[in-house]
Amino acid sequence: MKVLVAGGAGYIGSHTVVELLAGGFDVVIVDNFINSEPFILDNIRKVSGKSLSFTELDVTDKNALFSFFEKEKDIAAIIHFAALKAVGESGHQPLRYYQNNLVSLFNLLECAEKFNVGNFLFSSSATVYGQAEVLPVTEQSPVIAPESPYGNTKKIAEEIIRDVTKATNLRGICLRYFNPCGAHSSALLGELPRGVPNNLVPYITQTAAGLRQKLSIYGNDYNTPDGTAIRDYIHVVDLAKAHVTALNRMAGGKQKEQFEIYNIGTGVGYSVLQVVKAFEEANNLKLNYEFAPRRKGDTETLYADTTLANNELGWKAELGLNDMMGSAWKWQEGLAKT
Ligand code: NAD
Ligand code: UDP
Repeated sequence: MKVLVAGGAGYIGSHTVVELLAGGFDVVIVDNFINSEPFILDNIRKVSGKSLSFTELDVTDKNALFSFFEKEKDIAAIIHFAALKAVGESGHQPLRYYQNNLVSLFNLLECAEKFNVGNFLFSSSATVYGQAEVLPVTEQSPVIAPESPYGNTKKIAEEIIRDVTKATNLRGICLRYFNPCGAHSSALLGELPRGVPNNLVPYITQTAAGLRQKLSIYGNDYNTPDGTAIRDYIHVVDLAKAHVTALNRMAGGKQKEQFEIYNIGTGVGYSVLQVVKAFEEANNLKLNYEFAPRRKGDTETLYADTTLANNELGWKAELGLNDMMGSAWKWQEGLAKT
């Protein structure tokens, strides 16, 4: 079965491509490298031992995308990773975020319809829950109006996909990722932040590598056991495998609803301080950090109820915080050598 992975050179996309290839899927990637590097494609080939079809293309370019689909016959599924994802930046550049993340969605959905694709898998985010009143959050928990334009693109995209699946034969699944981190065990694939990282784990690894002076822990006055905010960190390889499982469900006609949503997390929340300690222990390192004021827009505690993914998808996270921290550091060390 041929799968188009839009944004397949990126962090989660590259790990997913490796798992898709291992699962016997025929993968075609499109990416414009707006937030990734071409060498990742070579590393996917090295890790998987398979050849790879790649086309450099901006998914918001409708003509280019349509020509691509005309050439590539028999695409049976689309996985849409091709989004801009920096929450803070989206607040300063809302139009750029709506344009990239939604026009890419429109174009891919139009192609799905025109070229009889059938299956559409979308990268959503736990950000749609905001600060939930009841924890852990299930897929039925209220979806709030996200604070950031980035978060809003996820909420809007889910609604658009839901409506399109209602009106057509397209099957859709949205995976709401919690906090992806870690890297491939080969250390050939991992997160490649441009400039100063926004996310916790790359900030930690860059601090340990001496690229940043110290980690600022945003807020130690939250109503949590150690005062720092709690999230559900999920290993990127577990997350990648969830895509393969979801694709098999969709393409295998096993969906109960034509449009489904799943939380993809571990179901366990860790505080920022616990993550820092886990990093220090996994890698036998000391991390330079300080407490800083809360970051605007951050929520206190968020972790997933993963019952639906466990029972319906038959997927469960297997790797723990130790693996996440160990692999993230191995990847960072490897980067320093290149
Ligand atoms: P990433 O930036 O590493 O990967 C996205 C890839 O898409 C990049 O290779 C980028 O070059 C490409 N891309 C972006 N716009 C494009 C366009 N118009 N045309 C072609 N290629 C384009 O990000 P990621 O962490 O791998 O995230 C993948 C998806 O998961 C995104 O939709 C993101 O919003 C979502 N997500 C990520 C996280 C996270 O913390 N990493 C959490 C929740 C959801
Ligand atoms: N965080 C932090 N320092 C950083 C980056 C993040 O203390 O340099 C905290 C952040 O406040 C949040 C958690 O780490 O509580 C996870 O943040 P991240 O940006 O990785 O993901 P989010 O859950 O905000 O999408």
